[in-house]
Amino acid sequence: MMIDTHIHLDADQYNPPDQVIARARAAGLSGVVAPGVGPASNGRVLALAARHLGFVHPACGFHPEAYDLTGADLEQTLAQIHDHRERLCAVGEVGLPWYGARAGAATPAARDQLAALARAAAHADLALILHAPHAAAGPALEIARSAGVRRAIFHWHKSTPAVTAAIVAAGYLISLTPEAVYRDRDQALARAVPLSSMLVETNGPAPHRGPFTGCLTEPWMVAPAIDAIALILGESSAAVRAATTANAIVAFRLRPVPQLQVPAPASVLPSRRVALNLFPTPSGVERRRGA
Ligand SMILES: [Zn+2]
Repeated sequence: MMIDTHIHLDADQYNPPDQVIARARAAGLSGVVAPGVGPASNGRVLALAARHLGFVHPACGFHPEAYDLTGADLEQTLAQIHDHRERLCAVGEVGLPWYGARAGAATPAARDQLAALARAAAHADLALILHAPHAAAGPALEIARSAGVRRAIFHWHKSTPAVTAAIVAAGYLISLTPEAVYRDRDQALARAVPLSSMLVETNGPAPHRGPFTGCLTEPWMVAPAIDAIALILGESSAAVRAATTANAIVAFRLRPVPQLQVPAPASVLPSRRVALNLFPTPSGVERRRGA
């Protein structure tokens, strides 16, 4: 059981995504988190999640480097978060700009936008998926903390060891990608982050290098990433898989319903019951009570 905690399934590269999802299931994935990057993308992600209930977990976001998004788009995103809060697993992808020539000029407004989105996540008790690379990570941490965000994920994280340690100390999570298979920087990050604070994602369709050069990034790449992290830590792949999956279930409050997707033969049902017992998530009733 593995979860790809960040893949842009609504991207053109995955259109239509049904074969990607079928391959993910065949590779042992039990779900994916699909973050939106703006109102239109959020709508596509919500529609996808409705078609793949319990496997595609939707998040609504406002990407800090989508410079064509307007103030009206931010308002629409906040409305989507409010209207769909019971269906969402997170607010995201949101964050602070870092890449591109316009990042520096965009940062002051982006801080206010991120603060508004972080307050929305805190208000709805949703996780916050952060795009905050390098020197953007520290300010994003402060904004998430100030907003009272209870569960934040620093996706495709890269920053200084001090900021990484501060994120872990704040109780937030750090997400590693298939770069852990081939890139020194990410292998060092795997050593620096306790398993209890670690998630794994593909960040598809962003391409990866090393053995993945030329491959369309798909959820199956979570498996070799987990194998690499296990080797680095001297743990079994099963232990890393179990820990990172449990972290994802808790952070995103996932409530998988695989039995709605695949009619199982009677002989398979006992093991399915066991698998479902592995999800220590609050029931919908408890969530509404704010437990
Ligand atoms: Zn992303």
